[in-house]
Amino acid sequence: MKRVVIVGGGVIGLSCAVRLRQGGAQVTLLEAEAEHATVFSPAASAAAAGMLAPLERAPSPHEAVSLDSFGLWRTRQHGAEWADGVRFDGAVVLNASEADAAAFCANAERQGRRATPLSAGQFSKRTGFATRIQNAVFVDDEGVADPLRVLSGLAMQARAMGALIEYNTDAASLSAHAVVAHDDRVFEADAIVLAPGAWATERIMAAAPSLKRIRPGKGQLVQVELKRSLPVTLRGGDFYMAQRREDVVLGATMELDRYDRVADKARTGELLASAERALPGEIAPAGRAWAGIRPMSPDGWPMIGPDCEGVFVAAGHSRNGWLLAPITAEIISAYVFGAEIAPEWAALSPARFGTA
Ligand SMILES: Cc1cc2nc3c(=O)[nH]c(=O)nc-3n(C[C@H](O)[C@H](O)[C@H](O)COP(=O)(O)OP(=O)(O)OC[C@H]3O[C@@H](n4cnc5c(N)ncnc54)[C@H](O)[C@@H]3O)c2cc1C
Repeated sequence: MKRVVIVGGGVIGLSCAVRLRQGGAQVTLLEAEAEHATVFSPAASAAAAGMLAPLERAPSPHEAVSLDSFGLWRTRQHGAEWADGVRFDGAVVLNASEADAAAFCANAERQGRRATPLSAGQFSKRTGFATRIQNAVFVDDEGVADPLRVLSGLAMQARAMGALIEYNTDAASLSAHAVVAHDDRVFEADAIVLAPGAWATERIMAAAPSLKRIRPGKGQLVQVELKRSLPVTLRGGDFYMAQRREDVVLGATMELDRYDRVADKARTGELLASAERALPGEIAPAGRAWAGIRPMSPDGWPMIGPDCEGVFVAAGHSRNGWLLAPITAEIISAYVFGAEIAPEWAALSPARFGTA
């Protein structure tokens, strides 16, 4: 049986743990933090909005992979421990002009997906807001994961399948066939998967130089109150709003090269002001705001594939780690078990950036 050690227990590491166990590997996952994550935990995954949004206005180089990953969320939900943490209600996308709305619909249609232009009245019906907004589009293929619920569900699922998850265990260094923890425990492996988010140390980067390309991208979210629950995700030009299991979040800032996880009133105030301009009098802050650190890659797409001998990276998911978690696990599993790598998967290899 192939022994795989995964470093990092965010949505990427946990998704890989489940998938690799399904494939028959013996899986050990090492996570530096404690088990019960909150929005203030260092993992980007816990702080995220959790939107599963594969469609954009313009074509993008890895759009097929995004749609495949969205499809995997739907199929894997059935019977999963985290099933009640994911919803697929679609999204309303705001556009600055009729031309932008038409471009969104055309791009969705080109990919075989449905996007429906909404009149101002239909916007109100879809969203429950009294404000009537022109040029909005409804997209069927969009969802949202409640991060804390799904992270705990993925951990339950991985354990139920026989994976060993070691929380409070910092991977201090690694070689091709072993990971050494901060307390000197040695975890031997036939393959190592690195999913450390934006938190790789110098010693981890020495064993997997492609991780040096990742920069931190601070993102802030504000919890908001609406007069009624939001039946869909709302995506505007400079803000979005997502209804999760127990709250609605308004997001998100993008502040590169920041590792601090402090929410500041100036930036969250800008988010609230953008939402207020679009929907006057409809949104009130609910009292909580927080920040997470996204692992940003040079092109905004993840690096998934081999780095040094026996070491695979699954990192740099930037703004779309939740969306892309299931396909990441699929690709990593193919590499670990030596299966065929589809060209669109190979295109996400860290090798696309050359030698770090
Ligand atoms: C505000 C905000 C909003 C977002 N919204 C969305 C969204 O709506 N949709 C979407 O798809 N994505 C969103 N994202 C992006 C998404 O959250 C990230 O891309 C994704 O969570 C990255 O997951 P990860 O598992 O790679 O990293 P992380 O979640 O950061 O997890 C990495 C884990 O590795 C652990 N670790 C690091 N080094 C070690 C070590 N040496 N030993 C042991 N453990 C280690 C860390 O403790 C951490 O728990 C958002 C992010 C933020 C911050």
